[in-house]
Amino acid sequence: MKIVILSSGPALYSTRRLKEAGEQRDHEVRVINHMRCYMDITSKKPKMLYQGEPLGKVDAVVPRIGASRTFYGTAVVRQFEVMGTFVANDSQAISRSRDKLRSLQILAKQGLGLPITGFAHSTKDIDGLIDIVGGAPLVIKLLEGTQGIGVVLAETRSAAKSVIEAFRGLDANILVQEFVKEAGGADIRCFVVGNKVVAAMKRQGAPGEFRSNVHRGGSASVVKLSAEERKTAVQAAKAMGLIVAGVDILRSNRGPLIMEVNSSPGLEGIEKATEKDVAGQIIDLLEQNVGQQRRSRAEH
Ligand code: ADP
Ligand code: MG
Repeated sequence: MKIVILSSGPALYSTRRLKEAGEQRDHEVRVINHMRCYMDITSKKPKMLYQGEPLGKVDAVVPRIGASRTFYGTAVVRQFEVMGTFVANDSQAISRSRDKLRSLQILAKQGLGLPITGFAHSTKDIDGLIDIVGGAPLVIKLLEGTQGIGVVLAETRSAAKSVIEAFRGLDANILVQEFVKEAGGADIRCFVVGNKVVAAMKRQGAPGEFRSNVHRGGSASVVKLSAEERKTAVQAAKAMGLIVAGVDILRSNRGPLIMEVNSSPGLEGIEKATEKDVAGQIIDLLEQNVGQQRRSRAEH
């Protein structure tokens, strides 16, 4: 197969591992910077060009698009879809997952466990919003934050009000969420490929820190999932339309609660914590799907 990894960081662990895993399985793998792709979107001759040259036929694409490049990156992925290339993940699913509010609404519709979450526009409704999540302590989140930046724990109602007013004053959109204290500053990252969890780790926040993000000083260790956690993670990825996903779960008194679903989950933390070949599982998924695509095209 000809595989393209869309990434603006060829030296990143995830990019390097995907390339290596593809080559180990005798595929031709190219790492391409999506920001340097340009395209002919005309319907009769859709084409992708890279650094002045047509890209030629590609069988499968793995998008690894940073959160700040979602608009252009998903346009590039969509172009591959138009050309009939298999993509893991597709552009719509990536866009969907980048908006925390939209994601939670989609997951809620499927009846999946979520922390109680509220959303409002006007600062006149702050008291009502705080009541929805059962009062303080509560968590306030910027809609498009990542790596724990823009996630704030407000211990009291008055602190919550000031923070919400400040964010809204800057015209930032925020979610207000019940604080799941019993999670103890930890969360579970479930790495889903296709329709199974291929690896899972527990991330524990630094002492005194409620956010478990590795970027905020959290540390990772291997964890055994319950059957319910596995099922929840697979259902969450499916609801989002993602075939490669990092589903983050909080362990609460009322079972697993989904916090977010990531469409470009990093490989370094999970492979190092679990010693599993997650990159290889992603390449296997491409092989299965491209094989299936070829067979069904041959039949028609
Ligand atoms: P980001 O996209 O910035 O990673 P998250 O929603 O994943 O934002 O929140 C960052 C971290 O904060 C989580 O990994 C988790 O440890 C902690 N956290 C987030 N929401 C809650 C909550 N409702 N209750 C308890 N801890 C939370
Ligand atoms: Mg997170």
